[in-house]
Amino acid sequence: MRNHGISLICTGLVRVKKPFMTRQGGPITSRLRILTSQDFTPDLPIFAWLIAHPEGDILVDSGMSGGLLRAGYLDSLGRFDAWLSRRLCTFALKPGEQIGKQLPLIRPSGTRGLRVVMTHLHIDHVDGLSELAGCEILVNEAEWAHPSGAPKALLAPFKPKRFAFDRNGDAIFGQSYPITRAGDVIAVPTPGHTPHHCSIILRRGGVSYIFAGDAVYNQGQLLAGELAGAHMDARRAADSIERLRAFTRNNPAVLLPSHDPDAARRLAENEIVPR
Ligand SMILES: [Zn+2]
Repeated sequence: MRNHGISLICTGLVRVKKPFMTRQGGPITSRLRILTSQDFTPDLPIFAWLIAHPEGDILVDSGMSGGLLRAGYLDSLGRFDAWLSRRLCTFALKPGEQIGKQLPLIRPSGTRGLRVVMTHLHIDHVDGLSELAGCEILVNEAEWAHPSGAPKALLAPFKPKRFAFDRNGDAIFGQSYPITRAGDVIAVPTPGHTPHHCSIILRRGGVSYIFAGDAVYNQGQLLAGELAGAHMDARRAADSIERLRAFTRNNPAVLLPSHDPDAARRLAENEIVPR
């Protein structure tokens, strides 16, 4: 699906435990509830987003590779990572859904001249990098230096371009980093889900498209200020949600979180976040 030069690529599905999705209680209770719960959400999409851009196309996050199609794939990434992934969520991927198969269908030149910018380094955002050889990878330098919950074995081969935020950047987020020379694609800090999570904003045709990663799991969480149990730092996550909300009050914006089942429809209809 392609709208406003944005292609949405669904690279498999994930179910997460319900307390992972919605936080209840303090930090310890919240984590215990996640570990002990047997109650899963319905299938949620794992989106990557391709932005067509005159300076060179940009992929926001990489989604999943075809690794899950091979038995024992998660274990190959490290026992602890595999255990953790299984405790929190279940993935489902059909042949052909991996990023490496879908990208050439919507971008005939495949990975040539493509840049990939990461919101954060959780497996469902970085796994596809193994099928994107030759792309320049952009990562917030603090997220790279202090990854949280990231599959380190999977990331070890990559040498991303690490960027630092400019303190005099965006007024609402305090900092930003321009991904394009035109300044129409920027990264802004939205920490909390991971300590250095960021969101990517594309300004096009008078509308801001916010690729919010996992800062919120869906638009309802933005509107209600609802925290996910998965956020590492609840206070900073709440602050990021407030800033995202302030941004959507000040700018007509379409919100595109990585796992929001309604994001495809909102993108297709160019539906602005209620002010
Ligand atoms: Zn995440």
